[in-house]
Amino acid sequence: MTALLEARGVVKRFGGLTAVDGVDISVGTGEMVGLIGPNGSGKTTLFDCLSRVQTIDAGSIRFDGVDIAGRRAHDVARLGMSRTFQLIRVYRDLSVAENMHLSIQWGSIGVPQLFARTDAATRRRADELLDFLLLGPLRHERAGNLSGGQRRLLEIGMSLMSEPRLVLLDEATSGVNPSLVADIADRLREVNTQRQVAFLLVEHNVQFVADLCERVVVLDQGAVLAEGTPGEVTQDPTVIEAYFGDPGDAGEDAP
Ligand code: ADP
Ligand code: MG
Repeated sequence: MTALLEARGVVKRFGGLTAVDGVDISVGTGEMVGLIGPNGSGKTTLFDCLSRVQTIDAGSIRFDGVDIAGRRAHDVARLGMSRTFQLIRVYRDLSVAENMHLSIQWGSIGVPQLFARTDAATRRRADELLDFLLLGPLRHERAGNLSGGQRRLLEIGMSLMSEPRLVLLDEATSGVNPSLVADIADRLREVNTQRQVAFLLVEHNVQFVADLCERVVVLDQGAVLAEGTPGEVTQDPTVIEAYFGDPGDAGEDAP
């Protein structure tokens, strides 16, 4: 499998804290990779580094053979990598469809785009994706009225508008009703197989990752602690220790 995303030795520091400490991670073309780890282990920060929302202090990041370590977030989006955020970012006062129309260049929506007329191809793509994501009947609904799970689906839809080859999803199941989690898993699997979109999934929900991914990377304290199949990593004593080891730390993130 050719590596679509290949990061080596990524380091990110915040003052004296090393949030990401020399991480190697790769995602192959069309692959689904899970990224798990206790709260505060650096998952979101690593995403921010990979998607170029954050600068890095050391390391290299290549996407589709291109060195992107010095690129800006919108450049990377244009190259075919998109992402969602742990805290959902939708325009609550706009409709579901309008959110889709505006999402094409996330990170670089300017006033002109807000007032530009949406072209027919964009509207068609948005409608098609909304139907696919089970949100078709809600396209004229105000986004602020959606449930947590529906908003996650909308955000996934927004991340797919630019026809990316890789999507980084940060906590796609958090705040989602369990009945919708299965729908989200099912839709992601479809996007992956039908459209060959690769995913890197950051998750609290280890079962969700195990259902979707053949390979899982476990972060702990900013470094890769383990990597393997879901079965391998969840039975790895060092991983169990990282999640459950410190009794004062086995909070909501425990699998
Ligand atoms: P996770 O997503 O795995 O829960 P994060 O990447 O959010 O972990 O956080 C990793 C560490 O970096 C934590 O100790 C967190 O407090 C710290 N951190 C994250 N973002 C910032 C920031 N912007 N400034 C300072 N510290 C940060
Ligand atoms: Mg996080």
